Amino acid sequence: MGIPNKMSKNLKISIIGAGMGGLASALACAKAGFEDIEIFEAASDLGFVGAGIQLAPNMARILDKLGVWDPIAADAVVCEETSIRQGSTDDELGHVDLHYVKPTYQYDHMVGHRATLAGGLYDGCKREKAIKFTFGTTITDVQFSPQPSFTATPRKGEPYTVETDVLLAADGIKSIVRAAMLRELGAQDDVQDTGQAAYRIMLTREQMKDDPYMLALLDANKVTRWVGPKRHIIAYPISSKQIYNISTVQPDDNFAAAPSATYTTKGSKSAMMEVFADFVPNVKKMLDIVPDGEVCEWKLRVHSPLPTWIRGQVALVGDACHPTLPHLAQGAAQAIEDAAVLGVVLGKLIIHNPNSTPNPAEINQALRVYEKVRKERAETLVETAAAAGRAMHLGEGKEKEERDRQFKALKDGKGPVPDKWADADVQRIIYGFDAVAEADKAFEELVSKL
Ligand SMILES: Cc1cc2nc3c(=O)[nH]c(=O)nc-3n(C[C@H](O)[C@H](O)[C@H](O)COP(=O)(O)OP(=O)(O)OC[C@H]3O[C@@H](n4cnc5c(N)ncnc54)[C@H](O)[C@@H]3O)c2cc1C
Repeated sequence: MGIPNKMSKNLKISIIGAGMGGLASALACAKAGFEDIEIFEAASDLGFVGAGIQLAPNMARILDKLGVWDPIAADAVVCEETSIRQGSTDDELGHVDLHYVKPTYQYDHMVGHRATLAGGLYDGCKREKAIKFTFGTTITDVQFSPQPSFTATPRKGEPYTVETDVLLAADGIKSIVRAAMLRELGAQDDVQDTGQAAYRIMLTREQMKDDPYMLALLDANKVTRWVGPKRHIIAYPISSKQIYNISTVQPDDNFAAAPSATYTTKGSKSAMMEVFADFVPNVKKMLDIVPDGEVCEWKLRVHSPLPTWIRGQVALVGDACHPTLPHLAQGAAQAIEDAAVLGVVLGKLIIHNPNSTPNPAEINQALRVYEKVRKERAETLVETAAAAGRAMHLGEGKEKEERDRQFKALKDGKGPVPDKWADADVQRIIYGFDAVAEADKAFEELVSKL
C-alpha cells in the first residue's frame, strides 16, 4: 500500500558523497525517472584529484548508457597494449596486445584523467533538473527506521534533520553509514590495513619532452608496469597524451608513525626515491622530476566482506561496501556498476507503481535485488585484485619463478597473464558484464523469491 498523493517518481532519494559512486548513482536514478534526488557532500566542491584512472569497458558501457561517455572518452587515451617489466632491469617479462578488447566488448580499454571522469559525471548530473547538490555539508547521525534520516551540518549554518525515502551511502572507505549499519547488527566495522601505500604522480609533456625514453612512453598507447619485490609502478599517458600518469604501490612504512586513521600523508621525495632505488635509472629519472614537497602518499586499506550492504531503505555504494586494491583498476568501475544496478532496481518501483509511492517493504525488496546482483561480483573482484597484487610483488623464490615462466609462455601466446587485469579470462568476467542488462534480467526472477 503506497502513501497517497505521492507517486513513485517523487520518492526522495538522498545520496551521501559526490565521488564516482554518488555521482553515478544520482545520474542513474534521474535517468530512471526519479525527480527528487539530493547529493550531500562534505567537501566544498568536487575537488581536483590529480591522478589518472583506467576506464575499463564495463565502466564505459554504463557511462555511455547514462549519456556521459563521449566527453569523457574525448581526451582519454586508448590502451592498445600492456608491457610488464622487471623494475631492476627494464627487461620485458610479459606483453599483452589489447587490440581485441573493443571488438570483443564494444568499448576500448581507455585511460584518462580522474578530473575528466568526475567532471563528465557532474556535468551529466547538472543537466538533470531532478538532481540537487548540497556541497560543504557533512552527514552524521544516520537512523535507519522508521524511515531513513540523518543530520546535515553545513560549514556555515545550523545542523538540520533530513528524512528521506531512500538513502544511498556512497561515502567512501571511511563510511559512517557502514559503521552505523554494522553497529545495529552488532558487527565490527573492520577496515583493514593492507600494508600497502601508493604514490600518485603526473608529469607533463613539457617535463618529458627532451628525454627520448620518456617521450616514447608518453606517445605510446601503452600501460607499462615495472615490478619488483613488494612494489610496482604502473604508468600510462592521459589527457590526449599531454600528461603521463604514474602510480606506485609499495609497503606503507611511511605511515608507521601516523595515527591509524590517516589515509594520506605528505611524502618525502627522498623516501620515494629510496623505495625504488634498485629500479633502472630511466624509471627513477621520471620519479625524480616530481618537485620536492609535492609527493603525496595514500595508504591502501580494504574491508572484510560485509554481512549485508542494505538495511531498510538504506544501501551502501562503492568503496563504502567494497573498497578494492588498485591492482585490477576496478574500484571506481565497480562503484559505477553499483549505481547502474540501483538505477534499474529502483526504477522498477516507478514501472510497477506509477501512481502511488511504494511502501518501505517494496523499497527494501528492490535494494535487496541490488545486493543480490552486486555483492558477490564486487567481493570476487576485491579478492582478485588482492591476488593480482600478490603476484606482482613476489620476491625471489619458487612462486616468482613460476610467475616468470607464465610470463615467458605468454610470448608464445600460451597461458594466463599473471598481471590479472590484462588476462583474457579475467577480462571476460569483468568486461563482459553488462550491469544494466543483468539487473534488468535478474529483477523479476529475484524479486519474487525475496
Ligand atoms: C592508487 C589508486 C588507483 C586507483 N585506480 C583505479 C582505476 O584505475 N580504475 C578504477 O576504476 N578505480 C581505481 N581506483 C579506485 C577508485 O578510486 C575508488 O574505488 C573510487 O574512487 C571510489 O569511489 P566512491 O564514490 O565509492 O568513494 P569516494 O571517492 O571515496 O567518495 C566518497 C565521497 O563521500 C564524501 N563523504 C564521506 N563521508 C561523508 C559524510 N559523512 N558527509 C558528506 N560527505 C561525505 C567524501 O568527501 C567523498 O567525496 C584506484 C584507487 C587508488 C587508491
